[in-house]
Amino acid sequence: MLYPTGTTTRPRVSSPYGPRDPRIGVGAFHHGADLIGFDAIHAVASGRVTFAGWMNAAAGNTVVIDHGGGVTSVYMHNERHHVRKGDTVSEGAHIADMGDTGNATGECNHLEIRVRGKSVEPLAYIAARLTQTAPNTTHPNPTTKEEEPMLVNIQGHAGKRSGGAYFIANGVATYLGPVVVGLPLLTTAHADALAKAVSGL
Ligand SMILES: [Zn+2]
Repeated sequence: MLYPTGTTTRPRVSSPYGPRDPRIGVGAFHHGADLIGFDAIHAVASGRVTFAGWMNAAAGNTVVIDHGGGVTSVYMHNERHHVRKGDTVSEGAHIADMGDTGNATGECNHLEIRVRGKSVEPLAYIAARLTQTAPNTTHPNPTTKEEEPMLVNIQGHAGKRSGGAYFIANGVATYLGPVVVGLPLLTTAHADALAKAVSGL
């Protein structure tokens, strides 16, 4: 996986993912991160383009890529597109040029990563899956404490928690849905060591 810059270098953020983004109103939730400082927007992973065009007055020109396994990436506010619906793209493919269409207040790439329809912090998600610079975050070592955000399967625990796919960042584990094939499997003890918030789910 790569950042939309087409590299493994984390891009600059003009507006982060999360609640209460001042640009979208107090109390609203910003489901993506607004990235700046580059022109060419690249696919973060290989996949199939499921949308490329004008989405609505908020998103403007938007590309959506289905990466399989329930994971999609969404790129908003584009100036122009270099792909069409139905295209197959490889990781790092030049899919669009940065713009300010829709409700963008300046040129930026609003990037969303959705796992089974639920948005996650996109830069943390990509950081957890970068293979070129951080192989130990792609395959966490159960014997060492892991600080990086990661996407993992966690074993079920009788009477306590259902197993499934979780996104862990900053000590909080977010349940995403049933087990996703291909993700590292964490034991219950390891998951608890990483994320206090897992307990009781
Ligand atoms: Zn945004």
